[in-house]
Amino acid sequence: MINFCRSKTQSNSIESIKSMAHNKNILQDSHGRTHTYLRISLIERCNLRCSYCMPEKGVQLSPKSHLMTYEEIFEIAKTFVKHGVNKIRLTGGEPFIRKDIPVILEKLASLPAELSITTNAIIIDKFMDVLKLHGVKKINISLDSLNREKFKHITRRDQFDIVYKNLLLLVEENFNVKVNVVLIKGFNDDEIVQFINLTQNLPITVRFIEFMPFDGNKWDMGKLVSYEKIMDYVNVSFPKENIQRLQDAPNDTSKNYKISGYKGSFAIINSVTNPFCDSCNRLRLTANGQLKNCLFSSTESNLLATLREGKSIEPIIHKAVQTKLKMRGGMDTLEKLQEPKRHNNNRSMITIGG
Ligand code: SAM
Ligand code: SF4
Repeated sequence: MINFCRSKTQSNSIESIKSMAHNKNILQDSHGRTHTYLRISLIERCNLRCSYCMPEKGVQLSPKSHLMTYEEIFEIAKTFVKHGVNKIRLTGGEPFIRKDIPVILEKLASLPAELSITTNAIIIDKFMDVLKLHGVKKINISLDSLNREKFKHITRRDQFDIVYKNLLLLVEENFNVKVNVVLIKGFNDDEIVQFINLTQNLPITVRFIEFMPFDGNKWDMGKLVSYEKIMDYVNVSFPKENIQRLQDAPNDTSKNYKISGYKGSFAIINSVTNPFCDSCNRLRLTANGQLKNCLFSSTESNLLATLREGKSIEPIIHKAVQTKLKMRGGMDTLEKLQEPKRHNNNRSMITIGG
């Protein structure tokens, strides 16, 4: 039986962070949105090469000295938690290829925030004990095809078997598993029903994600599989009375469904055709210490440089949150989203973290 625990030292530390909290709400933006969720990218590198995430030639990597150390990650995260962040998700690149991930998990687990991770699951089997020790229960894994050849094509690596094996291992070990599937028209939209059928016997949530535009990922609207199209596949494949619409959690980015009698559920994240910006509570910290106030923002705030100068990062965070635009980094219409020059100013997804 799984045992997710936090140590006594950790709970002492939780009390001390709570006592540091004060009223100045630096995480509320000018549109009234309060930010309680921080996504931290630990690394710019990855052991896969997913074509929707990174250009084939790779990305310009930051020099090692420009990346946050584990102490710096902890210091920055602590400031966010002090100001109301109660959820931290680690991502990348591939977070598990960072050598000091055990110590990062240990440090962050001492904060009073729920800790979760997004991974391609290739080496997660080596970290089961560490994840349990530090109370990490929610794991999102990326898997875009159930067909080995197609997996190899989209990720440019032949690793389907290990990812699928680790998905089953995570379920067996009672982790709360979500499977992220980026849908691309003509590539994997024919697998929607097969993915939903995975939830018949596995207590997982399969999340279909609309393909989003980022630098170098050759996005175009024609490759997108929309929410409506996904539901068309669902409606012709399952009896209407068996398709249950579930209650979405507050700030949820997805619309959740379940097929009656199935152990798991499925969800649709339609950030392109119906963005969820009104209820956005997310901030992103890149591996080189830049704060992004929106997934689509082309501007960033350098927290790491300020921290290294020994100055307070709070005014910078405050300003970044205050200047957050109402919708998709200013791309408030589909027309704007489709203008290449707008998303080419953003990073490639591999250096943001999703
Ligand atoms: N390597 C880890 C993984 O693959 O889960 C974490 C980093 S990855 C950048 C985080 C998430 O971003 C993954 O679920 C991936 O599918 C998603 N993602 C990457 N590029 C995307 C795109 N263009 N549109 C939608 N989702 C994307
Ligand atoms: Fe790597 Fe994740 Fe991007 Fe795929 S989606 S290249 S696994 S960072």
